[in-house]
Amino acid sequence: MRSSLYTILQLGASLPAAVMAAIPAPAGNYPELLPNGLGPVLNDGANGGMNGLPHTPYTYTLRPLSAKVPEHCYNQAQNSNTCQGRTLRVYDIKYADCSKPIPLCRCSDSPYPIDSLAKEFGRIPIYARQYVPIISSYNTASGTGCVAYADNFLYLRFHGNCATGTTVLFHEMSHVLDYKWRSTVESDSCVPDNYAKSSWWESYAQVGVLSAYNFNVRPINQTVNTNCLKNQLNKVNSQLVNHWTPVAGRTCQFVWGLREVCVPGTGCVETASARVASVAAADAVEVREIKPLPPAIQAKADELRRLTDLEAGITSGLIKGKSFRG
Ligand SMILES: [Zn+2]
Repeated sequence: MRSSLYTILQLGASLPAAVMAAIPAPAGNYPELLPNGLGPVLNDGANGGMNGLPHTPYTYTLRPLSAKVPEHCYNQAQNSNTCQGRTLRVYDIKYADCSKPIPLCRCSDSPYPIDSLAKEFGRIPIYARQYVPIISSYNTASGTGCVAYADNFLYLRFHGNCATGTTVLFHEMSHVLDYKWRSTVESDSCVPDNYAKSSWWESYAQVGVLSAYNFNVRPINQTVNTNCLKNQLNKVNSQLVNHWTPVAGRTCQFVWGLREVCVPGTGCVETASARVASVAAADAVEVREIKPLPPAIQAKADELRRLTDLEAGITSGLIKGKSFRG
């Protein structure tokens, strides 16, 4: 069943040479640890692989159309690639390990089943998952395939049905947990796969998946010899051990305070929302506000997004990478 998806994830297979020239990327002619990508090795196999990980139990509710929606989603839905002219629906997914639900903003034509996304996202340990304030789910332009993003290294956004490889979720999660690390790559002799060569931040996220496997499935060296990238893996393991290691009984350490707005024409009434404050008072959990990025940094983030607009669920190896090197 899963293998059928490998054949339809065609997008993102190659970036134009001109785009590649603009993106700083691992410049060495690095061999690839897993030439067919991470998914075929890590999603299944020993102990069920990442697709076999248990997920945190959840329930979800659909907000009435007249309810406020997160401002981030409202703005995003104006784009024709997301939900312009269609109906944006907001679900609140309540996981058992956090007092505040996470909004899932989903266009009415999204092919990604809510339960698939909720289960896959729920496989990420809470100390990592808590860093994502909003997830969203839309269709692709062609209606097939899967593309995933971590907008502003914060918001997870899926286009298409990505319900095949949990490695995709861990890859995008790794972007949210990103750290600078170019010199570490240069001290090793290989990178995870072809996709890891597309940029420094993609190579980080692919090692992030190896690290997540290491702490959630079994020691990665029992599955594949990672000696040729041991410095990368050691660094990410040390940075993310606390985020990736699932510990029974852990709950979120903070929740996100989100700005919410009314969608015109729905009968929604603009009032001050007490949602965030009431959660904080009841559970004494820190409420984090998302501050706008300084304009120059936002412009840079938007440019990176544009350049990587072909990034896909593929990232974690759902398809065999084609040449990213032009
Ligand atoms: Zn990526």
